[in-house]
Amino acid sequence: MKRVIIDTDTAGDDTIAILTALHHFKVEGITITGGNVQFDQQVENALYTVQVAGKGGEVPVSKGYERPIMGIGKGQHRTVEDVHGKDGMGNSYFEKAVQRPESKHAVDFLIETVHENPGEIHFLAIAPLTNIAMAIKKDPSIISKIPHVYIMGGTNNALGNITPAAEYNFWVDPEAARIVLNSGLPITMVGWEMCTRYSIMDDEDHKNIEKLNTVGSQFFKDVNKVVKEFNKKVHKLNGTTHPDTLLMAVAADESIMTRSNIYYVDVETAGELTRGYSVVDINGRFEREKNVRVCEEIDRNAFKNMLINVLQSIK
Ligand code: CA
Repeated sequence: MKRVIIDTDTAGDDTIAILTALHHFKVEGITITGGNVQFDQQVENALYTVQVAGKGGEVPVSKGYERPIMGIGKGQHRTVEDVHGKDGMGNSYFEKAVQRPESKHAVDFLIETVHENPGEIHFLAIAPLTNIAMAIKKDPSIISKIPHVYIMGGTNNALGNITPAAEYNFWVDPEAARIVLNSGLPITMVGWEMCTRYSIMDDEDHKNIEKLNTVGSQFFKDVNKVVKEFNKKVHKLNGTTHPDTLLMAVAADESIMTRSNIYYVDVETAGELTRGYSVVDINGRFEREKNVRVCEEIDRNAFKNMLINVLQSIK
């Protein structure tokens, strides 16, 4: 079983991604980065999700950076309660989990865990990349000891979600994304357009999931209430989107990624209209060394079955 650390801004699909990871990997820890909703709420959401999976107390949850690298003074990032509900959980207002967060900072947890297990710990990044960027800044010697980083973020020359140009995770902290992509770490990127093409669960899918009648399926229904309406209204999408779960599925079974290519990818940090845009240099026009394996096609049925299996297994 692959050993992993999940870095997450836990709200909405992050929760289903965490359930998926707990099902398929040995999760050594969960680290929280500022992103989707109010920071302490995200911490509670991660702790609660671990409890839903029946693993309360078994997986440490560590608090990292609450704000992006440049998030000082007026640099507060925009949270997205409109997408995931005020609590980030579809306005479900779940009870507090029994488990409490660790006192150690997430960045120190990342660094120490990598050093103690060189070549063993894969990173599953489903949030702005602040914690991971700061970890490799603080101790670059971890870079050669991390076998792979799977990143949900950016787009491959496609429409963004938080702006027309940018996907949310890269938009919140483009400097962090830039640091990580240019670090020399082996990276697989699953962009937002993979999510809109292959991960949408429509009304019929939701009905089928509801029929499972498990703790997992009820949880799925609860956390997805708000995003379903949001997607209809804003993105003109009929169903719920599961970018973070898709990333977990790819990391768990790379064969569901039926096409990928390695390109030079970088992130716009200055653009007047395009801050956070991920530049995927498909034709090699920058003549830069290729640094990221970009996911380009998914076996949708395989992904769907994987998601359903996870929800079914949580009784
Ligand atoms: Ca996320």
